[in-house]
Amino acid sequence: MITINSDFECGNAKNVQQIGEDRYRLEVVGDKPTYCYYFCFDATNDAEATEVAIEVWHDPVINDVPGFISHFPTTIWIQPQGSHRYQPLVLGSCETHDDHLVIHLPIGAKETIRVTDVWPATYSDTCAFLRDLAASRSDRCELFTLGRSVQGRDILGVRCGTAGKPRVLCIAGQHPIEFPGIWGMRAIADFMTSLLPDAVALREQLLVEIIPMVNPDGTVMGRNGFNAEDLDMYLAFGDDPAAAEPQAHESKLLWRKAADERPALWMNIHCYLGWRNNAEYPYDGWYEVKDPVFSDAAQARLYQALCDTMRLQTTAPSTHIVAATHSPATMEYQLASRFDIPHVFYEINGATAGPYGAGRRALEVFRAAMQTLLFYVAHT
Ligand SMILES: [Zn+2]
Repeated sequence: MITINSDFECGNAKNVQQIGEDRYRLEVVGDKPTYCYYFCFDATNDAEATEVAIEVWHDPVINDVPGFISHFPTTIWIQPQGSHRYQPLVLGSCETHDDHLVIHLPIGAKETIRVTDVWPATYSDTCAFLRDLAASRSDRCELFTLGRSVQGRDILGVRCGTAGKPRVLCIAGQHPIEFPGIWGMRAIADFMTSLLPDAVALREQLLVEIIPMVNPDGTVMGRNGFNAEDLDMYLAFGDDPAAAEPQAHESKLLWRKAADERPALWMNIHCYLGWRNNAEYPYDGWYEVKDPVFSDAAQARLYQALCDTMRLQTTAPSTHIVAATHSPATMEYQLASRFDIPHVFYEINGATAGPYGAGRRALEVFRAAMQTLLFYVAHT
């Protein structure tokens, strides 16, 4: 007898049914079209070793079959309980059909296996990681909080560098289960508080703040795109780009910080899955605002240099050789047009990145962007 459960931090599955001997069916819990592909559940076997087939279906409430299935095939990660590692499910053990997947899962006697399509960075683990950095590297960084989420969770970050120097704000987790962004920010936090010569030099020249998870409620709830208010933090201004502030509570906290402190640059990492619509491995991507958005000529030039950086010094063009475009509903667009604050926005493909791959790609983007920023700060 197999039991399937998703009642844990970052869990996502519903309407679990047994539909045959060793065959089960479940549906994902989506938020809106396209943002309806994430699943994370535990399968527990209380009998002898066996192999089960688990059908994973799109969410009939959202009913976006193409939006769901376009994220597949992708890496399916499995974690036997008690192991600290996720492993990729063996190739060929997951069938992709037009509207559902079938995962063939070998499971041992009395074993529990976690099954997911995005290797999770949980809120509790990410907070512990940041607290540990702040405690063990207290000569190089400090913990801070952006504020509390709708459900009362601290939105933690680490700050390092030199007061009075240009500020850099790094965030991820607007779309809560886009974990490669969170893993990427954790790697940047590790790097920026490390003893590597490049990191020491950056701390002397910049004040860097890293907030890996700006939407902790959504992450804990295993939501694809929303916060606890059912709002999308990426399309922060919704249908009203001229509004004084973005919609979601956590977006307002971020907006006020950026508007008050006017960082020289902010960085935002997202993620998506799958490769069927993409070009070349590792299938990453990036977004830009299109001119004319900046009103200050020097900031427009800095932004153009950052766009050159993304195109020429990162793997962003591996999905498409032209950047996608931020709409006026985004904080990227509004911080650029209202305050001349530039950004870099990167998308890691979670099909090709767990924590290690995500960290490498985030560091590549971060280091290249810092080099460009410092040159233009010195020459402006
Ligand atoms: Zn996203």
